[in-house]
Amino acid sequence: MRRMPDPSLKIDQARYVVTLDPQRRIIADGSVLIERGRISRVGKAAEMAGATADRVIDGRHLVVTPGFVNGHMHISYAHAVRGIFPDDVGSPLDSVFKLQMAMTEEEEHLTSLLGIVELVKNGTVCFVDPGSTKFPDACLQAYEDAGIRVILGDCVTDQAAPFPLPRYPAAEAIQRTAAFLEKWHGRLGGRIRAWAMPFSADTCSAELLRPLKRLADEHRTSLTLHHNSGAKARQDYQAKHGLRPTEYLESIGVMGPNVVLAHVLGIDDTEIDCMARTGTAAAMCPITAAKGGRGVREHGRLPELVAKGVKVALGCDSPNNSNHLDIVRALNMAAIQYKDARQDMRQIPAETALELATLTGAQALGVGDEIGSLEAGKKADLVLFDTQRPEWQALFNPINNLVYNADGRSVHTVIIDGRVVLDAYRQTFVDEPRLYGRVQEIGERLLARTGVSFPRSRWPMV
Ligand SMILES: [Zn+2]
Repeated sequence: MRRMPDPSLKIDQARYVVTLDPQRRIIADGSVLIERGRISRVGKAAEMAGATADRVIDGRHLVVTPGFVNGHMHISYAHAVRGIFPDDVGSPLDSVFKLQMAMTEEEEHLTSLLGIVELVKNGTVCFVDPGSTKFPDACLQAYEDAGIRVILGDCVTDQAAPFPLPRYPAAEAIQRTAAFLEKWHGRLGGRIRAWAMPFSADTCSAELLRPLKRLADEHRTSLTLHHNSGAKARQDYQAKHGLRPTEYLESIGVMGPNVVLAHVLGIDDTEIDCMARTGTAAAMCPITAAKGGRGVREHGRLPELVAKGVKVALGCDSPNNSNHLDIVRALNMAAIQYKDARQDMRQIPAETALELATLTGAQALGVGDEIGSLEAGKKADLVLFDTQRPEWQALFNPINNLVYNADGRSVHTVIIDGRVVLDAYRQTFVDEPRLYGRVQEIGERLLARTGVSFPRSRWPMV
């Protein structure tokens, strides 16, 4: 389906335009002009007074930022059963994958649609689904309608795992990935990207990981996998391979600027050097780490990764981990958790947190040339925050207000590829109350079908 040529758009007299340009300019009383899906001018409103557009958005009460990228965002089963896991359950992964494997096409379409509604309404313009979606064909219409950028892949493993994952002989997993990249990469005018998505080095052999990296290189795309380290993992890998987990990946050629390691908790200095030396990127999920009691004080190395120039994106992980899809809350957590963990207020300044969710995150995902900052020539992906809300008062430092005061609820308007996908809090691609009802039904059916059951509450439900 071809869209009509995009109308031009001007955001006029914005209270602040946070550009993330090389000088990191914050333009007070600024304007942004968008033509043919791209940003054509950014500057002082007075200097752009003569610039006209098909539509003009009055920006006087708005703070404009680049659209947010979400670097690790499982989107499939979870919205239907969000909140079912008690917060002391330990690892729910066995149930997670049981539920995920049981989804039908229609169910996955509807739960993904709800996930996308939540993402867009909180300012995410691009997300990586690390291989959760089983039926991308069924979800394509949701991606198309929502106008969001999606990075997809076929989750593969070839080794035994402690929970049910899609497992194939290596040759078949390689063939599936090749077919997936062929079919999906670059669709919807480039808004869909396809990556290689082996689940982890623990569940995939080197004979699988190596060819997958080669496929990613050949298709000029990326590869992501779950990756953590820590004393126990280092001991195990040392015994098995004579190397640390991250060094092992390097030894088999699965590191580089088109590799995104997810979570990366527990990595030591040698492993950080290994990532920096090879240009390997990371996607970290600060809320999952905090809520899951993963021990940021001991295992969180975000400040060191940033200091070494490793490109890090933030992610919300899953609606049953974080449990929300609000990237503004995730960047708030990234900014505050290291201050507490290190008892040092200088850790992860607000500006750094915002970079991770925008430009640096986009670079981590290999889309930094296209999105992540507000500069002439870049694709027009923007978030307009509504400052006419109590949490935005008083407004002197828009970065501090965004990172420490606000959350996704003040996302007023979202523009992706020059198209307004959220317009003054309203999205027009789905009937939300109807969708909520259907997803609730899906959740009830899914629990009945799989036999997954947890107490609904610790308090008596009468
Ligand atoms: Zn994950």
